[in-house]
Amino acid sequence: MVDATPASCLFCRIARGEIPSRSVFQDDEVIVFHDIHPAAPVHLLIVPKRHIDSLLDAEADHQSLLGKMLLLAPRLAKEQGASDGFRLIVNNGTGGGQEVFHLHFHVLGGPRPWRQMSIGR
Ligand code: AMP
Ligand code: ZN
Repeated sequence: MVDATPASCLFCRIARGEIPSRSVFQDDEVIVFHDIHPAAPVHLLIVPKRHIDSLLDAEADHQSLLGKMLLLAPRLAKEQGASDGFRLIVNNGTGGGQEVFHLHFHVLGGPRPWRQMSIGR
């Protein structure tokens, strides 16, 4: 599903400010906030404000938005203290271990050890 902005979608609600988040960046297209259950000292979620279920639903029309999200990852990782690098994870669909069905990029960084995420299962 794309752009339906479902009333009950958790990340749509965060993007609309209906549910609080610890945001570190937002503009008219993207919001970035700390994951509520961080798996690493730096664990950000880069979220488009328009509803896209996952990359499985991404279309050519989303190209510049996706590029913006990618470019935000290193910038915000560094700003939040991941000075020596970061990991970018995108879970897509149930088979990809996705739990919140609104597209998001996980940005992980900072000193190890990190908690194991579903990437390892
Ligand atoms: P995924 O498994 O890729 O769908 O990841 C969903 C992520 O959303 C998990 O890492 C959760 O900890 C995170 N999460 C769930 N609810 C919230 C919330 N209210 N604020 C911030 N992060 C959340
Ligand atoms: Zn949504």
